[in-house]
Amino acid sequence: LYVETPLSNGAEIDLDKDQTNHLVNVLRRAPGDNCIVFNGQDGAFLAEIVQVAKKLVSLRLIERSAQQTPANDLWFGFAPIKRLDYEIQKATEMGAGKLQPVITRYVQNARLNPDKLKAHAIEAAQQCEVLSVPEISPEISFDKLLASWRDIHADRILIFCDEAAASASPVETLNRLKGRRLGLLIGPEGGFSEKERETLLERDFVVPISLGPRILRADTAAVAALALIQAVAGD
Ligand code: SAM
Repeated sequence: LYVETPLSNGAEIDLDKDQTNHLVNVLRRAPGDNCIVFNGQDGAFLAEIVQVAKKLVSLRLIERSAQQTPANDLWFGFAPIKRLDYEIQKATEMGAGKLQPVITRYVQNARLNPDKLKAHAIEAAQQCEVLSVPEISPEISFDKLLASWRDIHADRILIFCDEAAASASPVETLNRLKGRRLGLLIGPEGGFSEKERETLLERDFVVPISLGPRILRADTAAVAALALIQAVAGD
């Protein structure tokens, strides 16, 4: 269970309404049962449920069960699609450490709810034992992202998923980039505009990859690219 409070041996913490509901009604836990809690900073702790009231559960932390793992360095930029839960959850599971919504010309979902995005990441982190929930930055425009890339990301390479890229193997491309700090960029349902494509391809920090001959849904492309990066570059 993800909590927002600091964790230490012997501490007692109260769960919020949603976590209480999850623990009591979904996981069917009762006083005396154990669970694991984490907060993205202090590792994971084994906890005992000491009290279950109507809308409140109190836990006592027994001992640390895992050390905190550092956030992965992989940066994931995505043009927000209409349903973002899957893309955020998969990016969290697959080790993206920083998530950045990027507003491109054809984005149809530019009004994002940061709490909802965070909730999707927390849900995936809880289910998959990812101890460091990725940081989700406020949205940035495509132009600003490219203009500020060098200042913010220094020598990080931006892997641009481009369905029109020449079909050199993405594995070979990623192999060449082993050891480099990487970012990944995926377009929206309507893809990148021709101008955006050209702008990306002009930048020396951008490396295009093709994910094969078929046009994939944006969220599928994200999973495929993240899997490739993990398998080849190991991030
Ligand atoms: N219309 C579909 C949808 O609603 O999801 C397809 C969208 S596809 C144009 C969205 C993004 O996925 C593209 O901008 C690109 O970043 C990535 N993508 C899809 N297929 C790809 C491929 N074969 N190779 C590389 N990137 C791909």
